Amino acid sequence: VYTKNIYNGSREELINEVKAALSAKRFQHVLRVEKMATELADCWQVDEELASIAALTHDYAKERSDADFLAKISEKKLDPNLNNWGNNVWHGVVGAEMVKDELGIYHEDILNAIRQHTTGGSAMTKLSQILYMADYIEEARDFPGVTEVRALAFKDLGASVGWQTAHTLAYLMGKQVRIYPGTLLTYNTWSVK
Ligand code: GDP
Ligand code: FE
Ligand code: FE
Ligand code: FE
Repeated sequence: VYTKNIYNGSREELINEVKAALSAKRFQHVLRVEKMATELADCWQVDEELASIAALTHDYAKERSDADFLAKISEKKLDPNLNNWGNNVWHGVVGAEMVKDELGIYHEDILNAIRQHTTGGSAMTKLSQILYMADYIEEARDFPGVTEVRALAFKDLGASVGWQTAHTLAYLMGKQVRIYPGTLLTYNTWSVK
């Protein structure tokens, strides 16, 4: 049960707002991220209500149109360089503004965790680290090393952030796609030995 008035409604009401914004498949992913995020929160002594709300809303904007994101970047006077990116970057960084404006969630730690959930950041709170990891290791994720990095997230959260960033960066470079500068800052802060 939510008791902190971060969201003006119950968990069930928030779930229904998120469900209405997403495909069935992505909604199921969101519920799995919430489960993993609250387990990590319990492990790392982070408030489970914050973890639940951040997880339930992290991909809220993922299915919005490019035009919606570009309009929001302009409306909220976000960094105009964002115009050059795409859904992968926008759904977190710009999506947080939609979570704020449409769901009425103003908690800055939660909004920053949403902003950072795809690319990380050089400064990440424990809540941000938890959401970044929960998205990566939720129970349906399957890739080489997933069992090891799941265990690492419960043993050394910061090291697991570094592991994810190094592996995602290697994967993206293998595809020769553009790297968001924030992703490189995350790597330099969390992955370098
Ligand atoms: P999802 O929303 O649950 O699917 O997961 P994420 O929000 O974590 O990631 C969305 C996508 O963005 C994934 O395919 C990542 O590999 C990709 N991604 C992460 N960082 C970067 C980056 O720096 N550049 C590009 N081009 N893609 C990235
Ligand atoms: Fe995402
Ligand atoms: Fe992720
Ligand atoms: Fe996700």
